[in-house]
Amino acid sequence: MMNLIQERDDIQLRHMFPIRRLLSVMKNIHLSVDSIPENPVGASINAPPEFLEQLKEFAQSHGVGAMEFVKLPQDLIFQEMGALFDNAIILAMEMSKEKIDKAASQETMNMVFATYDDLGKAANRIAEFLREKGYAAQADHPLGGLVLFPPLAQKAGIGWVGKHGLLITPDFGPRVRLAAVYTSIENLPFVDSNSHAWIDEYCKTCGLCIKQCPPQAILEEAVTHDTGRVTNIKQQECFEYFAQYYGCSICVKACPFSKAGDIYERLKVATEKQN
Ligand code: SF4
Ligand code: SF4
Repeated sequence: MMNLIQERDDIQLRHMFPIRRLLSVMKNIHLSVDSIPENPVGASINAPPEFLEQLKEFAQSHGVGAMEFVKLPQDLIFQEMGALFDNAIILAMEMSKEKIDKAASQETMNMVFATYDDLGKAANRIAEFLREKGYAAQADHPLGGLVLFPPLAQKAGIGWVGKHGLLITPDFGPRVRLAAVYTSIENLPFVDSNSHAWIDEYCKTCGLCIKQCPPQAILEEAVTHDTGRVTNIKQQECFEYFAQYYGCSICVKACPFSKAGDIYERLKVATEKQN
């Protein structure tokens, strides 16, 4: 990545990265692993409904915009990675619309890193909160690289994966970052349903992200592999542009769902009328 950035002679590496946030991200990825030995011995596996309300309030107070519970399927865990529990709490945090609208820019990149950092800290704080209450937990930082977050969040019903491979949520569109906390709590109200599948139909008529992606990295038709994994993006093309142009985010800006207000409902009504 550094080599790709250095190919640009109009920007300086030391100016491009928000160093303070980058260091904090690294610290919190380490913390998510280093804090695991603090899990209580004989951790509880049942949580009363009132505790789950407390947990939601705690997450919201740390900036989490959406939270759901889902069983973690093995096929969404990256090779040679693992999670301590398959009871997953999925977290989504909003990214600023004002800054996304400036993509690709230094300001957008600073905001994206700030969101990664704030969400990573929130995941660690939630894991700590669970431990204090007698449950075991493992935070999965948004840049932690343990699982594929968009399909996992889709399985949890938080939104639907659009053509750009990002999760589209009703409240923030694709302007979200995702993280998780895995826990010993086995009686979470797990979700395995989704009311956002209509977004597939809308994507077929839209295609704005495909047209506006500068290196044309978004596939017209997603590829489903034998493993069940879905590829939406040509990774190499996206990565090269991403590295050289401030983390890009142009597909997020282009997506109509990124608009604020009642855009989700309006597009849903229009799509249902057409079908
Ligand atoms: S981040 Fe940029 S390069 Fe990557 S898919 Fe989105 S628009 Fe294309
Ligand atoms: S820009 Fe259009 S095609 Fe792309 S994900 Fe958003 S709605 Fe779907």
